[in-house]
Amino acid sequence: MSIQAILSDLHQKYQIYTDGQCATYIPELAKANTNHFGLAVATVDGELFSCGDDDVTFTLQSASKPFTYGLALQNLGREFVHSKVGVEPSGEAFNSIVELEKSTHRPYNPMINSGAIAISSMIRAKSFGERQGKFMEMFENYSGRTLGIDEGVFASEKKTAHRNRSIAHLLRHFNIIGDDIDETLDLYFKHCSVLADVKDLAVMAATLANKGVNPRTKRSAVPGQHVADILSLMFTCGMYDSSGEWAYTVGLPAKSGVSGCIFGVVPGSMGIAVFSPPIDGKGHSVRGQKVFQELSKTLGLGIFK
Ligand code: GLU
Repeated sequence: MSIQAILSDLHQKYQIYTDGQCATYIPELAKANTNHFGLAVATVDGELFSCGDDDVTFTLQSASKPFTYGLALQNLGREFVHSKVGVEPSGEAFNSIVELEKSTHRPYNPMINSGAIAISSMIRAKSFGERQGKFMEMFENYSGRTLGIDEGVFASEKKTAHRNRSIAHLLRHFNIIGDDIDETLDLYFKHCSVLADVKDLAVMAATLANKGVNPRTKRSAVPGQHVADILSLMFTCGMYDSSGEWAYTVGLPAKSGVSGCIFGVVPGSMGIAVFSPPIDGKGHSVRGQKVFQELSKTLGLGIFK
């Protein structure tokens, strides 16, 4: 059976699942169409397969975090980055603040909000525009096209982000980030608001599967030496407090976003992306998880298989 046929079958099978709800804590995300459902696979040979709502754009939300982490590694090096952010799964919710109070006061990892906000502070340049330009250029190298920002979602998150604001102030208190707290948060909200469709996200995932080189444009998006770090942390921490179950049932490095996207990487082979807005209580697309579980089983994709 071809990849295209498998995707079409999965789309048909799981379209009828109606479990889950759109994220509401960012009011703009609550307006999403719960029927939207898109799937895509991009291979390291440059092929792209997709079906369903494959040209509906969504905001990357936390699916942006592995990429900004890679940018920080590239700009500042492993030692500095991990002097501020750890590499352990937190076992807590994505937006938890409690573990910052414990032990080192470093965020546990770059995939949860506290760690990603610390990573945003490491995207440095002379002005806010240049800082934003740095990550937009990086996303362009990964996806192979210029991506936009959903200013409505950005404004909506900025207005309601009391929990993330608390996290940022606690990070400042513990000297993990500097005084530019508001600018750091704005950068974080901006990269969470980058717009992509599932084909873009699958190509971005395939770029990680291809040691950092976009398999379609052949452009480098991140030096190959950082890819193992990105994938390791996606594997252990990318699905937050479901990461253990995900490793057990899917067995691939992956990252979700509360807009309903999930992307996964099969190293040396392909990138997979699913978009469907209804999410479960831990922030992961319900249809997306079903598709990944079945696809991994059908194609034997788990990295220990
Ligand atoms: N922007 C979202 C937040 O900070 C991202 C969360 C997610 O996608 O898991 O809450």
